[in-house]
Amino acid sequence: MRKKIVAGNWKMNTTVPEGIELAKAVVAKSAEVPADVKLIIATPFTHLYPVAEVVKGTPVALSAENCADKEKGAYTGEVAANMLASVGCEYTILGHSERRQYYGETDEKLVEKTKLALANGLKVILCVGENLDEREAGKHFDVCEAQIKNVLYNFTAEDMKNIVIAYEPVWAIGTGKTATSEQAEEIHAFIRKVVADKFGAQVAEDTTILYGGSCKPSNAKELFAQKDIDGGLIGGAALKADDFIAIALSY
Ligand code: PEP
Repeated sequence: MRKKIVAGNWKMNTTVPEGIELAKAVVAKSAEVPADVKLIIATPFTHLYPVAEVVKGTPVALSAENCADKEKGAYTGEVAANMLASVGCEYTILGHSERRQYYGETDEKLVEKTKLALANGLKVILCVGENLDEREAGKHFDVCEAQIKNVLYNFTAEDMKNIVIAYEPVWAIGTGKTATSEQAEEIHAFIRKVVADKFGAQVAEDTTILYGGSCKPSNAKELFAQKDIDGGLIGGAALKADDFIAIALSY
């Protein structure tokens, strides 16, 4: 059964004390959210350990925003999947468009990262999505299909139980421009079909596909009402506990 998920991606925001306060505020309000909506917060690496203490024993799960494509060793500045697991992460985001755009994250690296994350017991939130030029050229289906095939087609139906897909049109991230619910649903249904083509209808039906891109309390309800949209990956609005929870209550 696919899950309903609302995940907050804090990106490179908040100091550690501010992050702890934000996590505490999310936890305090999480009781308002129905039990079938899973809340996840993805924080910078520095915040994971103290935030893990805050969310322990609560309905809020912890995620990293990235992990290394190598197991361990001389990779200065990198953080390995087993390190994330050891501080209490349940998830890691991988392939966010900001990492693809600014840090050279390729589909090949994402295969390695996904393998290591899964091998260390982490669930993966894999981001896919087209940029504005690709959307305007009508290539958004091809771009998402290629990203999914290049990464996920290297995995098994069993692995897919621990993989969530986040469709995030790059032109909608942090821009205030949201995909319309029709635009989002069209591509979510398509992504589910790409999953079905490789893994079968049941796996596709069970795969959680999130929408991300300027999702906020005012538009979440309409987006989440779509058949193939199973929740959201939330950037800016996740930095305010009230907005994040209001989005989660939009189901
Ligand atoms: C994101 O970065 O994953 C995101 C969706 O950001 P925003 O909600 O700010 O557009």
